Amino acid sequence: MDIKEGFVGTVGNTPLIRLNSFSEETGCEILGKAEFLNPGGSVKDRAALYIIQDAEDKGLLKPGGTVVEGTAGNTGIGLAHICNAKGYKCLIIIPETQSQEKMDALRTLGAEVRPVPAVPYKNPNNYVKLSGRTAKEMENAIWANQFDNLANRQAHYETTGPEIWQQTDGKVDAWVAATGTGGTFAGVSMFLKEKNPQIKSIVADPMGSGLYSYVKTGEINTEGNSITEGIGNSRITANMEGVPIDDAIQIDDKEAVRVIYQLLEKDGLFMGGSVGINVGAAVALAKEMGPGHTIVTVLCDSGSRYQSRLYNREWLAQKGLLPER
Ligand code: PMP
Repeated sequence: MDIKEGFVGTVGNTPLIRLNSFSEETGCEILGKAEFLNPGGSVKDRAALYIIQDAEDKGLLKPGGTVVEGTAGNTGIGLAHICNAKGYKCLIIIPETQSQEKMDALRTLGAEVRPVPAVPYKNPNNYVKLSGRTAKEMENAIWANQFDNLANRQAHYETTGPEIWQQTDGKVDAWVAATGTGGTFAGVSMFLKEKNPQIKSIVADPMGSGLYSYVKTGEINTEGNSITEGIGNSRITANMEGVPIDDAIQIDDKEAVRVIYQLLEKDGLFMGGSVGINVGAAVALAKEMGPGHTIVTVLCDSGSRYQSRLYNREWLAQKGLLPER
């Protein structure tokens, strides 16, 4: 018998997919970890599960309690599913710039959703800081605190990293991923480097995120912006502290859009915007390293979460990002 224990038992163990069109173009094996196949639809199910289990193990989250989080959407969706499965309440504070699809999904799942103005992290009313204060003021509530809670990267150190190692038989030359909290990048990097320090660990960064300049110069420069959601940062989170980074690659929105449309039209994969940054960086890296290398990245979530934006020709045209056909 092979039966999974509900939602929680179904998180992780995702396939590793060869991205055929880009692999053929570059002569490298470009492999994507199919995180959109998690039961809540994104890579964040893993972090949500570890954060809740960690709070339970520490006795911080008790029956009937509330999980509070500031999230761009996917972590909230993962938390909301797990809260339902485990009998907790869920309160999500989200920047009002995030897609309607994600807000609707959260409400459908029964989470209380509070959209707030999108202001930078240094502003005390930033959604992350607001969520921390809100949790503190409530009884029997925990703050998931995905950016600085190390249970997040631990999920990837204990599951995503080992899965990639096993699925490739250890034959990985490089690991490349964009960072939101940095949990995915960090956990996988730490695990793979322990197994083989020769594996390159490369940050993919959208325009307007500070990681690229940080890796290149040591300074955080956040000039510019991106239509991608859930990635990019203006600070080094606790999850990213002390994590090995060999280099960074910056990918602009035009390239990210080109990549997700190629994945759709040539590979039949319907992907979210951060996948455009990840696979765009994997392709750039393949060109830099030359043929014959194996490069692993993440397919974070599905395009269905961005139907009204990335897959809406009018919206793309308004942004000057309509791909050539
Ligand atoms: N892509 C998407 C679509 C996301 O929602 C997130 C999480 N915010 C990421 C990538 C980045 O994952 P992490 O937080 O583990 O860095």
